[in-house]
Amino acid sequence: LRRNPGETEFHQAVHEVFDSLDPVLDKHPEYAEHAILERICEPERQVVFRVPWVDDNGRVQINRGFRVQFNSALGPYKGGLRFHPSVLLGTVKFLGFEQVFKNALTGLPLGGGKGGSDFDPKGRSDGEIMRFCQSFMTELHRHIGEYVDVPAGDIGVGMREIGYLFGQYKRMTNRYESSVITGKGLDWGGSVMRPEATGYGTVFFTQHMLATRGRSFDGARVLVSGSGNVAHFAIEKVHQLGGIVVGCSDSAGSVYDPDGIDLELLHQVKQVERERISVYAERRPRARYIAGATVWRVAGEEDVQVALPCATQNELDTDDAKFLLDHGLWAVAEGANMPCTPEATSVFTGVDILFGPGKAVNAGGVATSGLEMQQNASRDAWTAAYTEQRLAEIMEGIHSRCAHTAEEYGRPGDYVLGANVAGFAKVAEAMLALGVI
Ligand code: NDP
Repeated sequence: LRRNPGETEFHQAVHEVFDSLDPVLDKHPEYAEHAILERICEPERQVVFRVPWVDDNGRVQINRGFRVQFNSALGPYKGGLRFHPSVLLGTVKFLGFEQVFKNALTGLPLGGGKGGSDFDPKGRSDGEIMRFCQSFMTELHRHIGEYVDVPAGDIGVGMREIGYLFGQYKRMTNRYESSVITGKGLDWGGSVMRPEATGYGTVFFTQHMLATRGRSFDGARVLVSGSGNVAHFAIEKVHQLGGIVVGCSDSAGSVYDPDGIDLELLHQVKQVERERISVYAERRPRARYIAGATVWRVAGEEDVQVALPCATQNELDTDDAKFLLDHGLWAVAEGANMPCTPEATSVFTGVDILFGPGKAVNAGGVATSGLEMQQNASRDAWTAAYTEQRLAEIMEGIHSRCAHTAEEYGRPGDYVLGANVAGFAKVAEAMLALGVI
């Protein structure tokens, strides 16, 4: 705490992992002898830089850029870039720390890192977004590479931004180094299923959790927060599996749609028109919009069986958790990173419902980025069916790794413990093998 003052989200993420580790530290005294805990929460490298750019009115704007290269024991640093006005160094450190364990859980050779900027893309023209991305990459290109650090998207960074970032990297280095960044478009080195991967993976993981109780999505009523990349594809997969998503949101408010979210309309409003979610409700006869509200209570007194927080950190609090428990909840799975406050997590984990933590649940995105890197390396492009099958297998593997670890440590069904211990042990073993570096 003393060494990282004010970085509350980073403290929260470290506590959340370390609180699970006593049993594994008791079993492996060598981790303490080699200061694994002290080393694992200190990033290997942090880069903070100025991002100057010129807006459409000819005014010079300055933002701050970050890249935190957290841990490369398992492979090159890998993790997304977030463009949002709330981004501080502590935000990027929390995300990078989570990423280390998430990437370990995928079973792929990936280290962990994260980056971003306090740049706000909302309301910016295409030209402004391009000039910002070019300036950002003009500095970042020195610090990344196929064997060094491989960024991707996150909040505020979709395929458009990845295109401008990759274009500038190519220009600065004179190299068509496809696997320096993931989330690319299909015509320029991207992988099918990468846009879908995090949302689909979230639902696959939840499906495995539900199956342990003899349940499924068929007929279940579901709430999804957000309406961005992860939320959109989570909704799509839930509908394919026979569930009905009755609510979603954005940062301005939430929508309740008793007929189930119409994905085509959602796509038109959020992706094509880049409008607010309120516009969705205006165009849908029975939908209701609640300004300023999170999604967790939009269904009122009607029961909801599954909650999938897919927007941002700390978006589901204790009162939301208790409300959901009183209204038929079976399962919560974190599609976003750390969306449940620590208190809400305690509410969920203290009772008999299924709770899937983000680092396991949303790992399908980075896993499919790993598959994109494999395709780039072999100059190949896989089919959608094959790639989705690989994603489904990886999610099944992550689920069983978490479930078995929880059982091994005497806490069956505790996915928080399972994910933290399995991810940590894999990184710790690699760090021991590589010596004190
Ligand atoms: P997007 O930018 O595509 O979507 C984010 C969504 O969350 C938007 O609907 C946004 O609303 C909403 N949102 C953002 N901030 C807030 C807030 N403070 N309160 C309420 N809603 C908010 O991002 P992604 O879908 O890519 O990412 C969502 C989450 O999933 C993040 O936690 C991210 O780290 C995590 N994640 C993403 C992965 C990926 O592959 N994309 C991989 C693994 C995890 P608005 O439109 O109003 O901004």
